[in-house]
Amino acid sequence: MSKPRFVAALLAAAALTACAQTPPPPALAPAPAPAAVAAPSEDRAPVTILVSIDGFRPDYLGRGVTPVLSRLAATGVTGPMRPSFPSKTFPNHWTLVTGVRPDRHGIVANRMENPADPADVFTMATDDPTWWNGAEPIWVAAERAGIRTATQFWPGSNVAIGGTRAAEWPHALSGGTRPSDWQQYNEAIGPTQRVNGVLDWLRRPAAIRPRLLTLYFEAVDTAGHRFGPASPQVDEAIAGVDASVGALVDGLAALGQPANLVIVADHGMAATSSTRVVALDTLADPARYHVVEAGPYASLTPLPGQTAAVEKALLGHHDHMQCWRKGEIPARFHYGRNPRVPAILCLAETGWQVLATAPKAAQSGGNHGFDNMAPEMAALFVANGPAFARGRTIPAFDNVDVYPLLRDLIGLPPGEDVDGSDAPFRRVLTAN
Ligand code: AMP
Ligand code: ZN
Ligand code: ZN
Repeated sequence: MSKPRFVAALLAAAALTACAQTPPPPALAPAPAPAAVAAPSEDRAPVTILVSIDGFRPDYLGRGVTPVLSRLAATGVTGPMRPSFPSKTFPNHWTLVTGVRPDRHGIVANRMENPADPADVFTMATDDPTWWNGAEPIWVAAERAGIRTATQFWPGSNVAIGGTRAAEWPHALSGGTRPSDWQQYNEAIGPTQRVNGVLDWLRRPAAIRPRLLTLYFEAVDTAGHRFGPASPQVDEAIAGVDASVGALVDGLAALGQPANLVIVADHGMAATSSTRVVALDTLADPARYHVVEAGPYASLTPLPGQTAAVEKALLGHHDHMQCWRKGEIPARFHYGRNPRVPAILCLAETGWQVLATAPKAAQSGGNHGFDNMAPEMAALFVANGPAFARGRTIPAFDNVDVYPLLRDLIGLPPGEDVDGSDAPFRRVLTAN
């Protein structure tokens, strides 16, 4: 035995003897087993981290306030990503992790009404699996394949996918799969805590350490809504999230944890104003229909016996707005077959809004939900890590392609029956 090892063995033996003489503390947590700490010099395999910056337009990288994200883009892969219609948060986050468009996965809006029971309403707080079971998110496929996952927020990550919720109180949940580690969404948990949460998960011993993680930031979207995309407040929010991504990158380096970062947005942001509003009640009698959602698009249901009158008043082109029956929405939107899409969709020209009535007070800010091909709705995509080539810009692609990319990164075979493919990334993946 070499001298240092001999000394270490002696010290260990002395420690064991000391333990044997000291009575154990009563009812305290047991001392951690040696395997409960990550080996400091461990050679770690890359993990995949999917980061969403809500409402981050790709052109925000050109504002001079993103040293970290711009460096990751310059030394990795970037390109404008087209959201799916409608360019809203929940439909697109669910598409990003399922590879399926909203009309197929069933999260067709941020707010939905059950067509069989209009009192049954989906909101961003709904975790009843019934609403979410139309497609399987990547963390369910990963967990099934033995790949541990952890989500520091992502719409739907608090839902037991595949499970059922009893109709009667206390609405017991049975079955279903969530990520091994997930967090209930809470805006009070700030960006530093979120980044530290991810890093703490990666500090775990290999046996309980996630290999696919998500992270979410809402600040850029919030500022975009309140102040508009061109505002200094948005620049400030962009800089803040950029610093958080920097803290993540630095923390990973300090841990010696290689990572493939896939940094995305769900949609962009367009400037809106109370001077650019189409008020539905100026076109059709509001006693004849029920508005389900209003904003960049309005969705509505004619009341019984009122369909013909409402259609006559609304269908077709109007100044700054176009309305369709759900079955006649142009094919490029891939929208309208799902029973949860209300009977009539009225889409505003980008920057305008379709509201039930004219706004009572002057207001300006930003919104999204418009035509998903509008340049203002384009979403950030930056990928960086050992799996990606350096310094490559790819042409615009659809966000349904992110899920197949994630499957490649975590080593799962291509998904079946999804709307996207990894084709946009094949030339920028180092293994290919
Ligand atoms: P949107 O305006 O459609 O972009 O929605 C953005 C908002 O969605 C955020 O400001 C949050 O309030 C909310 N949100 C984002 N993620 C979640 C989540 N996982 N659970 C509940 N609400 C969320
Ligand atoms: Zn959003
Ligand atoms: Zn938003």
